Amino acid sequence: MDRMERFEDMPLDERTLSSLKKKGFYKPTEVQKEAIIPAIEGNDMVVQARTGSGKTLSFLIPIFERIEGGSGIEAIVLVPVRELAQQVETEARDIGRFHGISTVAVYGGTSIDNQIKKIRKSSIVVGTPGRVIDLMKRGALNLDGIKFFVLDEADRMLDMGFLDDIKWIMSRTPDKKQIMLYSATMPDDIVRLAERYMRRPIRLKLSEDSISAKGISQFYVRVGEMNKLAKLSALLENEPGKYLIFTRTKIGAQRVADNLRKSGYKAFALHGDMTQAARTRTMNEYKEGKIKILIATDVASRGIDVEGITHVINYDAPLFQKDYVHRIGRTGRLGKDGKAITFVTREEIPVLRKIEEYIEKKIPEMRIEKKGRIRERIDYREYADVFGMVTLRFSLKERVSRLEILKKMEKQGIQDEEVGRIDLGNGYAEVEVHYSRAHRASKAGFRDVQIVRRDSFERKSG
Ligand code: AMP
Repeated sequence: MDRMERFEDMPLDERTLSSLKKKGFYKPTEVQKEAIIPAIEGNDMVVQARTGSGKTLSFLIPIFERIEGGSGIEAIVLVPVRELAQQVETEARDIGRFHGISTVAVYGGTSIDNQIKKIRKSSIVVGTPGRVIDLMKRGALNLDGIKFFVLDEADRMLDMGFLDDIKWIMSRTPDKKQIMLYSATMPDDIVRLAERYMRRPIRLKLSEDSISAKGISQFYVRVGEMNKLAKLSALLENEPGKYLIFTRTKIGAQRVADNLRKSGYKAFALHGDMTQAARTRTMNEYKEGKIKILIATDVASRGIDVEGITHVINYDAPLFQKDYVHRIGRTGRLGKDGKAITFVTREEIPVLRKIEEYIEKKIPEMRIEKKGRIRERIDYREYADVFGMVTLRFSLKERVSRLEILKKMEKQGIQDEEVGRIDLGNGYAEVEVHYSRAHRASKAGFRDVQIVRRDSFERKSG
């Protein structure tokens, strides 16, 4: 089949073309080029594509080409989180305008009554599995007449434990329907899900480049846990932009936001412990650019689709490789340039290597020279060996004995047994202490102190 370079070259309804024009979209993205026509032709689809690829329109356009409107719910899109539901709804509303077809988003945390009212006037429902089930059990949502069943970000839905919910909903829909499954990654359980419900689906996998986020420069920064904030602040000063910062936990996100604010940065957190109203407000202000620094957890960030994110920072390295891809996909959307920077502590080096294997690409190190508003401290832990010992090198004017060194240490509250090897050389002494005592040891009253680097960060060959 000929490649369609412009939407106008595709056999699409005039109303669809008008709404695309109104949005300023003329050229289909890769996934749109590949998926729209087969989907309009009625095929089940399994598509590996990440957020940012234009995947949403690649399933919405076929839906609008094939449904009539005015006869109840004809299509359902299941998504993992509310923000994504809102986003898909927005895109559907734009495309549906000229068709006169309404879409409703349903998710928890807001009034169900309003959603019930809207369902009656809509043809497409976009929702999180929990709320969809709730509405179905109340008899407010009936899927007997659906023609399309879309699973968006399926991998994430399974990660969040929605498999049984999806099956429950699926079993209450007609046999004859078209299923479209979208997922950034294709683990076995997704493949099984597809095999169980689909009829000879068309499988699309976007090129590795688009999976590992083309247009995004990726770096890592070595930093001890203690200095992450200082490094982040240095980055914010060095490279002003629109930042999305990932932490592993909700508390972590809140803490980073609070600490940055204390230093005068306008930073806000986005996580699941916030009320829906607060999340929506924060999200909107971030979208509008009133907030330029947002700190989020993986779950809260799902489906964040914000223009102009210049930097994605993995403040905590992601636990799963695929989260890395999800996270950095938030920048450099549709080929615009963006930077993804991962903070890596010494313990996290293996995590970095796994990510590199997964994306089949080496991530170069980045050094941040300029200081930020937050002072860096020496993170002795970063220099410790596997036993937690750090070696300090003191310059000496005159020779001292081991005993004298131990005495000086004792004055700092460091016991003999907390001191390891002591090497006496010409004009210096190297003393091993536990990293938790290193700061005190460095104040033991010698002229000059250096940390002896054991560069375990270097790639070991072989
Ligand atoms: P998605 O991957 O569906 O989350 O889409 C990412 C972003 O790209 C959304 O803001 C879309 O509105 C936008 N987008 C989708 N398709 C196109 C297109 N063909 N041209 C320009 N922007 C698009």
